[in-house]
Amino acid sequence: MATHQLLLLPGDGIGVEAMHEVANIIETLNKVSGKVVFETEHDLVGGAAIDAHGVPLTESALKKALNADAVIFGAVGGSKWDDVAYEIRPEAGLLRLRKDLGLFANLRPAICYPALADASSLKRELVEGLDIMIVRELTGGVYFGEPKEIVTLENGEKRAIDTQLYTTHEIERIAKVAFDLAGKRQNKVHSAEKRNVMKSGVLWNEVVTATHKSYAPSVGLEHILADNCAMQLVRNPKQFDVIVTDNLFGDVLSDAAAMLTGSLGMLPSASLGAPDEKTGRRLSLYEPVHGSAPDIAGQDLANPIATIASFAMALRYTFNMGQEADMIDQAIANVLADGLRTADIMQDGMTQVGTKAMGAAIIKHLETLAA
Ligand code: NAD
Repeated sequence: MATHQLLLLPGDGIGVEAMHEVANIIETLNKVSGKVVFETEHDLVGGAAIDAHGVPLTESALKKALNADAVIFGAVGGSKWDDVAYEIRPEAGLLRLRKDLGLFANLRPAICYPALADASSLKRELVEGLDIMIVRELTGGVYFGEPKEIVTLENGEKRAIDTQLYTTHEIERIAKVAFDLAGKRQNKVHSAEKRNVMKSGVLWNEVVTATHKSYAPSVGLEHILADNCAMQLVRNPKQFDVIVTDNLFGDVLSDAAAMLTGSLGMLPSASLGAPDEKTGRRLSLYEPVHGSAPDIAGQDLANPIATIASFAMALRYTFNMGQEADMIDQAIANVLADGLRTADIMQDGMTQVGTKAMGAAIIKHLETLAA
């Protein structure tokens, strides 16, 4: 029986509560799967690590993350740590993980469960059955390019500079991730940039085109200007399968796509590193899109689905356990179809449940599906 090592980093606020439900799901999977055993280790990150160790991520936790087969991350932050130095704020723990694990590819699915189609701000027919994957470049572009500074000019005025910077290999490797994913989905990639006004957009377009030709000619490729992509996402989102884009546009487009599906509490994500040239092993971190939600933390109000669905993504993308991932996704869909809702997705005529009851209901369906 294969053994996989998972590092669970619950973090702060509702991260802790949601991770508790994920740990129960892992335990259930160990019982029902019959082919793998997940061994889990826990550590602190974010505010919890600051309280215990004075830093948002210890070297020992980082080492565990580098050695784990996958990291499942909860959420970090809260007003308690508003006054800590910028370099050791809770979010710095997550940024350090992304950087040191080399997580350059951020995968954000936008899936609309049929039972929640009415919770979207768009009409049911536009979003029902929606299944988009946004592939965002995560370690390059304008968030990291140098120079990045605010300078005072001779006349006393200030000038701010950010630098949008991409190299061929950065674009090529993210394009390959998108083509690989599309090959297992609807075989269609839209590449979004602003080649009409940005040099980095011109290069992005050229490299994606060349990578398509040499690496994945059988996958459909369309180029789209990022502003048009935003418009099309709210006009007719079901035209998309996989969208690949840079760090900045990906940040904006993935948030827009996400809200098509209802609540923050439903949205998982994956961040992947490059495959090791010899072993093919790639580092990975899975986390919900939402933060630590201090307003509802500790009250059994958090929706654990985003974190549970993030673990399902780990099964799919790190452990090649698509069948088990499908089972978890189906268990979530079944619970929603039963009418159970946490407060954030509550609708008339449905039954409101807390974090624990939602986790338990998903496990019950998981056990039935696995039987
Ligand atoms: P947030 O995502 O924590 O919460 C936004 C709103 O959505 C809140 O009203 C919250 O109650 C609700 N919400 C979020 N997730 C939910 C869930 N699973 N179930 C039910 N309701 C949910 O964002 P915020 O309030 O802007 O930030 C709170 C803290 O989280 C801040 O310290 C912020 O820096 C941090 N944060 C961390 C991450 C991360 O760890 N990746 C991401 C975003 C924000």
